Amino acid sequence: MVVIFLTAILVIVTPLLHDTSARRLSPTIAASLPNPQPHPLPPSLEKWQDIPQAGDYFSMIKETPVGYLVWSEFPVKIYLEKPQNINEISASLERFQTWVKAVLETIEEWNIYLPLEVVNEPEIADITILRSRPPIQPTFNQETGKFDIPRARTAETRYEFYLKSTENGEKILSHKMTIFLSPDQSLDYTIATSRHELGHALGIWGHSPLETDALYFSQVRNPPKISARDINTLKVIYQQPTRLGWEIVDS
Ligand SMILES: [Zn+2]
Repeated sequence: MVVIFLTAILVIVTPLLHDTSARRLSPTIAASLPNPQPHPLPPSLEKWQDIPQAGDYFSMIKETPVGYLVWSEFPVKIYLEKPQNINEISASLERFQTWVKAVLETIEEWNIYLPLEVVNEPEIADITILRSRPPIQPTFNQETGKFDIPRARTAETRYEFYLKSTENGEKILSHKMTIFLSPDQSLDYTIATSRHELGHALGIWGHSPLETDALYFSQVRNPPKISARDINTLKVIYQQPTRLGWEIVDS
């Protein structure tokens, strides 16, 4: 789904990674957006060297209507849901705490490659991680004239775009990510799913065809760690031009 408010030059896109329909910005809207340019490579990725020459799966990565989903301000701020009432000891609290621990573990894993920071205020977060199953969004099928109900998933990442105002009054085309992560998985699968979805949220908007990569498209019995190929792919993505993170100039 693409919603574009022309007056505010604001673009909101609620995409699904698995949705293959191509989207293009109309020429008038594209003209008011910043030109696609690459950002400087973050030092953590700059120094990354793929010693075994594992290759990458950059060809599987999709561009969004405003370019690659590259973060350019670090640390990237992450908010995750936390239990409200921690004094009340219960099985459900314990499950919640296990979920939080799993997510924090995977944030630490990615933090090696891109600086990340956990924040307590959801309003300032770039990435929000919710402890819930992804809402099911039926899509209208024009051929059959009926709504297609997608099968339930355990996790999903979505993006949206907005204009961030800086202290100097600049308007920066920016993005936010929301990760839905099921509360009903085992610890190992929660870790694997969180690792995978964080990869999407950090810019790997596509899937690896190899099951030894964290961004493999399907859940496997022995979930892989972040692989050299995952980071090679991330590094190529961060060298691509994007409209994100650049100033919009009112004409
Ligand atoms: Zn995925």
